[in-house]
Amino acid sequence: MSNYKRVLLKLSGEALAGDKSVGFDETNVMVVANQVKKLIDKGVQIGVVIGGGNFWRGRSSKIMDRTKADEIGMMATIMNALYTSAMFRTIGIDTIVQTPFEVGMMTERFSKDSALNHLKNGCVVFFAGGTGHPYFSTDTGAALRAIEIEAEVILLAKNIDGVYDSDPKTNDKAIKFDSISLSEVITKNLKVMDHTAAIMCLEHKMPMSVFYLNDEDSIVNAISDKINGTVVTV
Ligand code: UDP
Repeated sequence: MSNYKRVLLKLSGEALAGDKSVGFDETNVMVVANQVKKLIDKGVQIGVVIGGGNFWRGRSSKIMDRTKADEIGMMATIMNALYTSAMFRTIGIDTIVQTPFEVGMMTERFSKDSALNHLKNGCVVFFAGGTGHPYFSTDTGAALRAIEIEAEVILLAKNIDGVYDSDPKTNDKAIKFDSISLSEVITKNLKVMDHTAAIMCLEHKMPMSVFYLNDEDSIVNAISDKINGTVVTV
């Protein structure tokens, strides 16, 4: 079924919140959990990066020092990972949350060796806290961790069903790509992930599958030939 052995799943914070757009939506998260379980049961190794937008972004305050605002954002991504990890465990998925800095006994410090050990044992590894530095995003954190753990692809779950040449919300003639190269994404300034992340993926030849999270079996299909979205090639 699957073409891949090790993947990095990137979810936005909003994906956890569902229609409420803040906090957590248990039903939404369990839909993701059940799909991840199917992949784990097939032997696919899965790392997960989650954004923080359902709680806070560095841009959320117009007046606050940006470094402080970003620190709050990184903490938001840790809450999201702790929540999702605990929800995954309710259906028997083995999980661990790793962070680039100490968070007491709540998470483990990220290391490639340890992450790979967990992954090889069928444990889902959540890479929370982004890169650990302000002025970055969880897109960049996802690119970085995917490259470090030698994932074969980033599964980019979105609230849109792929990459378009313009915004389909404002242009009803927008055209969706079945496949597009990363260099085209960058030169055409297409909204897939932020530039820092896209350039890292280009430099390190990390492909992506971009798809609509709320489609039935979207994650499972994203790593098969049944993907309903856009394949971003390198
Ligand atoms: N963040 C950060 N460094 C990172 C990753 C995330 O400072 O390496 C902060 C940043 O403030 C960001 C927030 O965490 O706005 C939530 O991350 P996400 O990627 O969801 O934010 P977005 O890209 O939507 O701003």
